[in-house]
Amino acid sequence: MAKKRKSGGRSKGGHGRSKSVQCSKCGRIVPADKAKKYTKRVSSVEPQLARELRQQGSYIQTRRITAYYCVSCAVHAGRVQIRQDSERKSVPTRDRQF
Ligand SMILES: [Zn+2]
Repeated sequence: MAKKRKSGGRSKGGHGRSKSVQCSKCGRIVPADKAKKYTKRVSSVEPQLARELRQQGSYIQTRRITAYYCVSCAVHAGRVQIRQDSERKSVPTRDRQF
């Protein structure tokens, strides 16, 4: 059968089974090497207030949130784009950020 991608959309190479993660959006179980991982820095302070505080020289703590998306959700959310047959072989440029 024809193969859409040499890697099958994964990055595990010749390794065996990889651990699975849950999609943050739909809850589907996805292999960790196939899921799209995004990290985001979130502050509990409002952006405008944070800017003022930063100007006064205070440090505002931020949390880092890690989200895993399954391929369907990543495409739906516009995080990754569907590429043409000829483009699929190339390594995509840096994934779009939040
Ligand atoms: Zn999903």
